[in-house]
Amino acid sequence: MKGVVFLGDRKAEVREFPTPDPGSGQVLVRMKASSICGTDMHFYRKSWDDLVAFRQSFNGSPDTITGHEPCGVVEAVGSHVMTVKPGDRVTVYQHVGCERCGFCRRGDVMFCPKRTGYGSVHNGSAADFTLVPERNCLELPDALSFERAAVLSCAGGTAYQSIKRLAPSGKDTMAIFGLGPVGLCAVMFAVARGARVIGVDLVPERLELARQIGASDTVNATQDNPLEVIQDFTGGKGVDAGADYSGNSQAQEAMLACAGKGARLAIVGVGESFSVDTLRVMIMKQLTLMGSWIYNIGLHDEFVDFVLEKELPLEKLITHRFRIEQGPEAFKLFDSGKTGKILFTWEDS
Ligand SMILES: [Zn+2]
Ligand SMILES: [Zn+2]
Repeated sequence: MKGVVFLGDRKAEVREFPTPDPGSGQVLVRMKASSICGTDMHFYRKSWDDLVAFRQSFNGSPDTITGHEPCGVVEAVGSHVMTVKPGDRVTVYQHVGCERCGFCRRGDVMFCPKRTGYGSVHNGSAADFTLVPERNCLELPDALSFERAAVLSCAGGTAYQSIKRLAPSGKDTMAIFGLGPVGLCAVMFAVARGARVIGVDLVPERLELARQIGASDTVNATQDNPLEVIQDFTGGKGVDAGADYSGNSQAQEAMLACAGKGARLAIVGVGESFSVDTLRVMIMKQLTLMGSWIYNIGLHDEFVDFVLEKELPLEKLITHRFRIEQGPEAFKLFDSGKTGKILFTWEDS
């Protein structure tokens, strides 16, 4: 089988690997759609020495296949696999936990002290096949295409958990900063819950896409001051809810500035630190500020149902499709920061 590996300093290559045999409790998944994520790019941009040091700190191989947003069909199962069988359509949860600690048992696998991930330590999904534990296989209904499921697997799930926790409704105006794939999924979810959404970004194509999927207004922060536009839009009251998916400290501070009294806010984008005026902003506006990280594995069925029931057009976030043989080209293009979601796809998916 073919798989994409990183060579350090923004270089990648496609290599031939033996197709693995599933061992006890393991499942071999034949890929149908596998998307590229911003997280992959943190590894893509590392130097070779930093990449090796990171992977060795988790006892991973320097030649790990990248990718952690896989969807496909179960090809084979090992012994003691009880709930998954060949032919099942599945997506794969991206973190592997110990399955014994309290966090794993309640589905917060991302908090497991022994957590490891695909594409960073385990061979990932930028490959013809991926070997995963049974518990990570999440069933997909026939109504959800592999491509839409790939967008949901990491970007959609991360957006869903943060929006669920902020709970915007028809009473609320919400500002969403950072309109990459996660932020755009958040726009869809907040609009579907009834909120009026204002999207903020620097890239005109992303702002246009946000309007197409239901944002009431958008702000290009290279041209206009988001705070002024949002104050105008809300009649000076500020927003009821806000979330940042950019990780940019200016955006995070703008989100705090445009928050209205009693607003709920979330930071989701990974990036720089930012400062908060604890008295005049946090206390006197009585804000609730939370972090949100990836998603609880138990939310998967809930957000799949939500997307199908609301008929959310996740496929609109996909701008490019590549064959796995074109791996280096796909990562180079995604690194430009100007695309939407990029997918590897396989014939007849
Ligand atoms: Zn991801
Ligand atoms: Zn655990």
